[in-house]
Amino acid sequence: MANNEELFKKIIAHSKEYGFVFQSSEIYDGLSAVYDYAQNGTELKNNIRNYWWKAMVQMHENIVGIDTAIFMHPTVWKASGHVDAFNDPMIDNKDSKKRYRADVLVEDHIAKIEAKITKEIEKAAIRFGESFDEQQFRNTNPRVLANIEKIEDIKNRLYPAMDNNDMVAIKQLIEDIEIVCPVSGSKNWSEVRQFNLMFSTNIGSTAEGATEIFLRPETAQGIFVNYLNVQKTGRMKIPFGIAQTGKAFRNEIVARQFIFRMREFEQMEMQFFVRPGEEMKWYEYWKNERMHWHQSLGIPAAMFRFHDHDKLAHYANAAADIEFEFPIGFKELEGIHSRTDFDLGAHEKHSGKKLRYHDPELNESYVPYVVETSIGLDRMFLAVMSFAYTEEQLEDGSSRVVMKFPPMLAPYKVAVFPLTKKDGLPEKAREIMNKLKYDHMCFYEEKDAIGKRYRRHDAIGTPYCVTVDHQTLEDNTVTIRERDTMQQERIAINEISGVVGERLNVKP
Ligand code: ATP
Repeated sequence: MANNEELFKKIIAHSKEYGFVFQSSEIYDGLSAVYDYAQNGTELKNNIRNYWWKAMVQMHENIVGIDTAIFMHPTVWKASGHVDAFNDPMIDNKDSKKRYRADVLVEDHIAKIEAKITKEIEKAAIRFGESFDEQQFRNTNPRVLANIEKIEDIKNRLYPAMDNNDMVAIKQLIEDIEIVCPVSGSKNWSEVRQFNLMFSTNIGSTAEGATEIFLRPETAQGIFVNYLNVQKTGRMKIPFGIAQTGKAFRNEIVARQFIFRMREFEQMEMQFFVRPGEEMKWYEYWKNERMHWHQSLGIPAAMFRFHDHDKLAHYANAAADIEFEFPIGFKELEGIHSRTDFDLGAHEKHSGKKLRYHDPELNESYVPYVVETSIGLDRMFLAVMSFAYTEEQLEDGSSRVVMKFPPMLAPYKVAVFPLTKKDGLPEKAREIMNKLKYDHMCFYEEKDAIGKRYRRHDAIGTPYCVTVDHQTLEDNTVTIRERDTMQQERIAINEISGVVGERLNVKP
């Protein structure tokens, strides 16, 4: 399912219909690229955040978590490079009036050439059969070679132009490779302009006394400026990490694709402070560790891949993305960056405060190097939704949509249903629910036929439904139905919590 727009639309519709995600300010026709999490979505999001927090903080004795303010001193963003370099080049098509990120237009063009190469290889693989040697074909086929050369030429012009903020060169490149607007089909482009992605506002009440400040575009800087406070008060020894989750804001030029690219979103970041010279070891370590985390959720390994960066951000000496196969194709889900001593060094310079660590083993002071892992919570949410969304044809000819969430992430773990609304069944069901809710997130429901209630909980991904019937009143047993297999079993009331708990167990 490489590029499945249809499936993507279904996931968006399902998110709204079943209370996962709503457009922000919907009654006013919405605010572009801003979303609200609904009742079920909030539970799912909290569970993803907790699963990350536990994996990073609880499972690592040398990682602690903090929660810093969204507003920070404006010089922070000067030091971090965001004031000068957190720009995207934008370009308008004069006919369609659509705005694009200029580098993305070029990258999409490269992707089209890559697709041609792939097609050529697929055709040849069929033609040659078993004896096909892909590498040899790549190295010798003239059409493939010409296309590879084209891509190299484009990259050799795009990346230096981006590095040098050379907007004229980017415009020239777009003209030379004859990119057309996907909407109007024309080549009638505006100049390329730099656009800073930070939102700004003012702090202070009077016009004269007010200072321009920024809404943080990443949570990482809150960690950098506090690193020495944490190191000292927590008596941390290098290597150690500081984790944080929280809102970040970017005035994205093109914000489409639902919650994949938002203007207000949430990050889960961890900065790992290491000895200079040891950063590559830790970079590899965290790449593996983070990939392992994703797979620990039971999502197939084939849905993830690494993408090593050719073009590095101003602060990095190595960087890779973990990409996920969203319905819109493989896209970045998480970044792992070796940020060197860029940030701490810059904060030393701009604040005039020493941010050094005294290494007792080396008996030496230095500015630590940093390896960071940075994942978008909303993108992870979308990844989990895309993985979980399943349409099934059932044996009786009907169909169902079931969200096959990893059980520990499901919004509700158990739904409790009285079979009917009379004969004391609701009271018995409430009694069970009132005990169970101390252990698990539970949902009580008595409206509609039992089959309908099952379907509703399939659609929000509840792993277990417990039905209370007349036999329950006699022998204190219930039917428990498992979401994925739809199998039902009769168990004693006092076994419910254990059965559910077993599915949530993540111990190896
Ligand atoms: P992209 O290339 O997609 O713009 P990025 O490389 O700028 O992303 P980082 O600065 O590395 O992203 O941010 C770390 C993570 O934060 C990303 O991997 C992504 O999951 C998330 N993220 C970044 N921008 C957004 C956004 N606008 N909306 C939702 N999540 C985002």
